[in-house]
Amino acid sequence: MLISGGCHCGNISFALDWEPEPKEIPARACTCSFCTKHGGIWTSCPAGALKVTVKEPAQVSKYSFGTKTADFHICARCGVVPLVTSFIDGRLYAVVSVNALEGVDPWLLRKPIATKFDGESEEVRLARRKRNWIANVEYVEERV
Ligand SMILES: [Zn+2]
Repeated sequence: MLISGGCHCGNISFALDWEPEPKEIPARACTCSFCTKHGGIWTSCPAGALKVTVKEPAQVSKYSFGTKTADFHICARCGVVPLVTSFIDGRLYAVVSVNALEGVDPWLLRKPIATKFDGESEEVRLARRKRNWIANVEYVEERV
């Protein structure tokens, strides 16, 4: 299933090819200090493929904190945070914001489950991302 999404102004957009066809889309309400402040709810499909297109890279603020192993992509124009990426062992992984999905049948969306990763070591955290995050990510910047 091809799922589209992005920020509000259209600067950051994505197309997520969710494979295999989803019976439901899980939603993780992250309880980290940053996601608590902006209401971050994330989903990912480990076997899927994500293509991200950024029209104006200068208008994307990449924010990281804590272990600094993940980048929140914040549209500097409209303030939406459509995705998070993590570069692990030479590969880019990503999760997308459930709030930034467009045109998804609400019946497919699971109720967000609060998730807490605070106590994790960096090693455990990166291994978890490799298992659960989208491993096939193409990130295209249209204007450099
Ligand atoms: Zn925007």
